[in-house]
Amino acid sequence: AQERYASIRKTPAVSLCGKRIGLYMNAGLLADLPSLPSSGAEGVGLFRTELQFLIRNKMPRRTELVQVYERVMEAAGGKPVVFRTLDIGSDKVLPYMKPTDEPNPALGWRAIRVGLDKPGIMRMQLQALLRASAGRPLSIMFPFVAQFEEFRAARAEVDKTVAVERKLGHAVPDSITVGTMLETPSLAYAPRKFFETVDFVSIGGNDLKQFFFAADRENELVRRRYDTLNVSFLTFLEQIVERCTDTETPLSFCGEDAGRPVEAVCLAAIGLKSLSMRPASIGPVKSLIMRTDLAALREVIHDARERGEQSVRPAVMAFLRDQG
Ligand code: PEP
Ligand code: MG
Repeated sequence: AQERYASIRKTPAVSLCGKRIGLYMNAGLLADLPSLPSSGAEGVGLFRTELQFLIRNKMPRRTELVQVYERVMEAAGGKPVVFRTLDIGSDKVLPYMKPTDEPNPALGWRAIRVGLDKPGIMRMQLQALLRASAGRPLSIMFPFVAQFEEFRAARAEVDKTVAVERKLGHAVPDSITVGTMLETPSLAYAPRKFFETVDFVSIGGNDLKQFFFAADRENELVRRRYDTLNVSFLTFLEQIVERCTDTETPLSFCGEDAGRPVEAVCLAAIGLKSLSMRPASIGPVKSLIMRTDLAALREVIHDARERGEQSVRPAVMAFLRDQG
C-alpha cells in the first residue's frame, strides 16, 4: 500500500484550495522510526513513551531511556519529535507497578495525575529526555491535562529538572517547547491565559471523543455509537481551533481519526493545520487532501449543520464523491 503513494511521498500536503497541512506520524517504539522516511511524515507528532515502559518487566533505568530517546532523535534525522511523557493508568497498566483498584480507570488515576502525585518517575523521565536531547531542540507533551494548574505544575517540573541538570554540569537542550494534549473537554474551556502559556496543544481525539459523548472507547457496545463527524463534536473542535487561532497557539490533532482520510479532510476543513497518525495512513490522507477543496468542504459541513443533521458524514461523502 505504501508503494501506491510513493510518488507523493515527498510532496507536501497542499489542498486544491492551496492550504498546507502538516502530516506527522505517531510512534512509540524504535522499530517504528524507519517508517518516518518511507511514509513521508514530516516528523513524529506523538511519541508514546509509555510503550518503552510497557514492554519491560521492570522499570527501565534512566540510562536506558537516554539511549532510547537518543536513538529516536537520531533516527528522526533532524525532523521534529514530540515526546509525550508517561501516559499510564486506565488501559495502560505497568506490570511492575502496584495495581490500583479503581471503579472507573478511564476516569481515574492516570497519566499526568500519576506524574504529579508521584513525581519520581516523571522526574527521571524528564531527566532522560533532557540528557538525550543535549545540543538539540526538545519537545515535551503532557498527557491528560484537565486544567491549567496541572499544566503549570508539570511545566514547573521541567524547569526544576533543567536547573538540576545544569547544576550537575550536564548539557541541556538548545530549546525546549512544552505542550499538552487536549483530551478532556474541560481543558478546551481553560482560561485564555492557559492558551497563551502553553507552547502547543495537540488534541487527543480518542480520549476527547470518549469523554465528549461519555462513551467508553474500549467498550464494543458503545464505542462506535457516536460519529466523529457528529455536528456537536465538530462544533466543539471548531471552538478549540478558534481559541488556538486567537491566541496563536500551534494546534494539532493526534487521535486515530487523523489517520482516516474522510475524517482527516474534515478536520483540515474546520481549521486543523497539523495531523499526526499511523505512518501507513499518511499516503492515503495526503492523497485525499490534495484532491479536496477544503474551503468548499467547510461550507458543506456548515450547511449540513444548518439543516440540523446529526452527522455531516452523508453530505461530506456526497461532496467527496462528486469531486472524484
Ligand atoms: C488520544 O487519546 O487520542 C491519544 C492520541 O492518546 P492515546 O490513544 O494514547 O490515549
Ligand atoms: Mg489519550
